[in-house]
Amino acid sequence: MPNKQSNVYKGLAAAPGISIAQAYLFKKEIEFISSANIEDVDEALRILDEALEKSKKELNKVFSLAIDKLGEKRAAIFEAQIMILDDPILIDTIKNRIKTEKKTSEFIVNDEISKYQSMMDTVNEPYMKERSQDIEDIKLRIVRNIKKKKWQSHITDEVIVVTDNLTPADTVLFSRANIKGYVTNFGGLTSHAAIIARSLHIPAVLGLHDATAKINDSDLVIVDGYRGEVVIRPTEEQLDYYRKRIENLTQYDEELSKLKDLPAETLDGREISLLANLDISEEVDLIVSNGANGIGLIRTEQLFEELDQFPTEEEQFEWYTRIAEEIYPDIAIIRVLDIGGDKILPVDVQEANPFLGWRGIRFLLDNKQLFKTQLRAILRASVHKNIKVMLPMVASITEVRQSKEILEECKNELKYEKYSFDNNIELGIMVEIPSAAVLAHEFAKEVSFFSIGTNDLIQYLLAVDRGNEIVSNLYQEFHPSVIRTIDFIIKEGKRHNVFVSICGEMASDQIAIPLLIGLGLDSLSVSPALIPVTKQIIRNISYEEVQKLVEKCLAAVTEHEVKNLVTAYFDKNIKTHLKSFFVNG
Ligand code: PEP
Ligand code: MG
Repeated sequence: MPNKQSNVYKGLAAAPGISIAQAYLFKKEIEFISSANIEDVDEALRILDEALEKSKKELNKVFSLAIDKLGEKRAAIFEAQIMILDDPILIDTIKNRIKTEKKTSEFIVNDEISKYQSMMDTVNEPYMKERSQDIEDIKLRIVRNIKKKKWQSHITDEVIVVTDNLTPADTVLFSRANIKGYVTNFGGLTSHAAIIARSLHIPAVLGLHDATAKINDSDLVIVDGYRGEVVIRPTEEQLDYYRKRIENLTQYDEELSKLKDLPAETLDGREISLLANLDISEEVDLIVSNGANGIGLIRTEQLFEELDQFPTEEEQFEWYTRIAEEIYPDIAIIRVLDIGGDKILPVDVQEANPFLGWRGIRFLLDNKQLFKTQLRAILRASVHKNIKVMLPMVASITEVRQSKEILEECKNELKYEKYSFDNNIELGIMVEIPSAAVLAHEFAKEVSFFSIGTNDLIQYLLAVDRGNEIVSNLYQEFHPSVIRTIDFIIKEGKRHNVFVSICGEMASDQIAIPLLIGLGLDSLSVSPALIPVTKQIIRNISYEEVQKLVEKCLAAVTEHEVKNLVTAYFDKNIKTHLKSFFVNG
């Protein structure tokens, strides 16, 4: 890579991919909101009704396009926006205020909807803040229609859209024009715009703060959605470099796709079950087409986020069934709700240390009804016998035993209600709390599989908050205590024939893979896009050699030593066998 230059800006890598194209500065006009008094209330109400009708029409258009491009589930956010326009309480309040306060309809609409937004903004929670952005879109839409301003829904083809903030509606509409990328000043990874960009395979870098100030209309721009970088007015050298990367990416993708039907097997014949982590339901397609052996982790809390509310047994049953059928005959491991920590709880509680608080299995055991709803839905979806259940945040044997009792209770109910399900459904745990690792031997007698969650295991073992950038240098996956703990978990699991996998991000780190294979894991579960490259790495590993690597790493006493050992192994044995390009740079 050319040295970092002053025209390279860093943002959030929101959707992968690289493109080079001209910038299109998309500016939304800020409408002037007049707070003037009005004489004719009927006229104001008529204008409001027309604006609501027009806004509904616009959103219906976006909604049908979204169904086309994204599928029904993702498109539902627009249905939700249309429902807000029909919300009788909101509309009646606005109309009553126009009648009593005798102010312009634009003023009252703006004021009333802004109240909702401020409530959402005061919650110190990125998810709520981003939903407040969705509401902003509705507010601006109604105000624009009250002022009878045109809706800018068409843009030039093949540009990189640079804008302050991207609404989900913009993201869908622009996709008609074969957009090459998105760059924004604001927006987070969980914003709907980011999720939609990922679904549409459009590279996006968000949250640059001053992208619209730095980039001019028609400037040539490079968006690198892998690294979260934007290159403005690139030099010839930078252009050459990125053109080569795009070319390599294409070639590399072609090469990796040839691996699709080959096993994830080491040079000396040890076969690894290569699974994928599923965060959003649309990823099943990619998981299947990339040739994974199944789904090693379904983060159901993410699925629940798609609906913005707690889904019913029936809704969950439909989801799980669809995923299980799409992945069949391979397996899908459904992790029961892991809310709490940095994932929003459905109840209003304030905790000083949420990561050490009411999270995962603790929350579920205290909310038995909710837990049962999910278990019943999972059981009902298990008729094809390719579903397993996994418990998150397990710290004690009692939690597993209580969960088993509840699972039995659900089975008995379902039998009585004459539902069919897999009576032998397997139950496993995430090993992600040090106490579970220490008791791995005892847990192995209780469950049929372990999945090592290094994201949490590292944070709890090293006492380093996984989301705190101040201590991010201390969050070390190659810390000797981490390696020794993983080794211990695997050995204890093996003694009882428990299947041991790893689903934390460490499994997606290319240089860690030889070490993980050497430690004797049965399976790795990685992000869907990384399935091919992970398979390629495994196919270049000698199991015998990496066992020697493990011996050296287990003897090391600092993170630095382990890192040096794994890097040296990777550079010598793997890198040379792979194409010179790596997916994440
Ligand atoms: C983990 O902790 O490693 C894990 C996979 O779970 P999550 O990232 O959802 O906490
Ligand atoms: Mg975890």
